[in-house]
Amino acid sequence: MIAIVYHEDYNKYDLGTIHPLVGDKPKKTMELLKKKKIIDETDILIPETAKETDLLKVHDKNYVDHVKKLSETGGWLASDTPAPKGIYEYASLAVGGTLLAGEKLFEGFNCTANLLAGFHHASKSSSSGFCFFNDIAIVIEYIREKHKLQRFLIVDLDVHHANGTQEIYYTDPTVLNISFHQDGRTLYPGTGNIEKTGKDNGEGYTINLPLPPGTGSKSYLNAFDEIIPPLTKQFRPEIIIYQCGVDTHHSDPLADLNLTHQTYFYLAQKMKELSSKTCDKLLVLFGGGYNSSASVYSYYNIMCGLLGKKDYLKEEEIEDINAAEIEQLVDKLKKNLSSWWSF
Ligand SMILES: [Zn+2]
Repeated sequence: MIAIVYHEDYNKYDLGTIHPLVGDKPKKTMELLKKKKIIDETDILIPETAKETDLLKVHDKNYVDHVKKLSETGGWLASDTPAPKGIYEYASLAVGGTLLAGEKLFEGFNCTANLLAGFHHASKSSSSGFCFFNDIAIVIEYIREKHKLQRFLIVDLDVHHANGTQEIYYTDPTVLNISFHQDGRTLYPGTGNIEKTGKDNGEGYTINLPLPPGTGSKSYLNAFDEIIPPLTKQFRPEIIIYQCGVDTHHSDPLADLNLTHQTYFYLAQKMKELSSKTCDKLLVLFGGGYNSSASVYSYYNIMCGLLGKKDYLKEEEIEDINAAEIEQLVDKLKKNLSSWWSF
């Protein structure tokens, strides 16, 4: 059973008309899901705002107070992240959505999706990249406490490196954090080097695949198949968190990968299958995507992949210019990880 978490106030998480993050995406996504009758096959759940105590499971009190203060007056969290008035409440509502989606995986659903989520650039005491609170880490800590799980898998396929999540879990072997992203030498936030594999007890539990600009669907899907299923099988997660950002699409104005709409169907289908074969708990967090209309189509395709619906949207494939280079990168990553994982 699949549930979608959505609140009509999600569109208030809006960083301004000239900012790449405009607030109407969750609403437009819901409209398309209604039109395509996806919502007839899913439950719709309405979240409540997360409590401050939830935010404090991950973030420092000083940082939470700082966001609260900015939210009263309006201001800037970072040079790329304006903090409009009221943002504390709306960012907390997004976290509340992820918490509700996480909790429902213990109440009869095997897959839940929050339409405003995946804020992976937020670390304990600072943030940028349009993120305020790291809902991924907050839901992990909430579930760890309440349901006593010990193995959390994050598959973060947003085009940007999951630097906030990486910082939070860099020494933690209970969280296997896999991030596929555009190479940090060519894109914000600049991190996510292939050599970064965790530290101390967390060695081998941080996995980064930095992809060159121009990476196409075929190479991306091959890399997925080579890396993610073997790691999932060996790690035996008790829950899988899938940050399914669609800013990897070829039309995205902020990044330079070349995935097509149908790629998202295949990726979601693969993620659902991996979950079914392991823990049967898949938490889907709709991350970045800055060409609003293309993003909405890609999100629809993700829902089709999760539901096993074949009427997903297709477009012409784009020539994959880096296939050989990406194969080498994948081999290099496998070699780097060979002390901890077998492929
Ligand atoms: Zn992103």
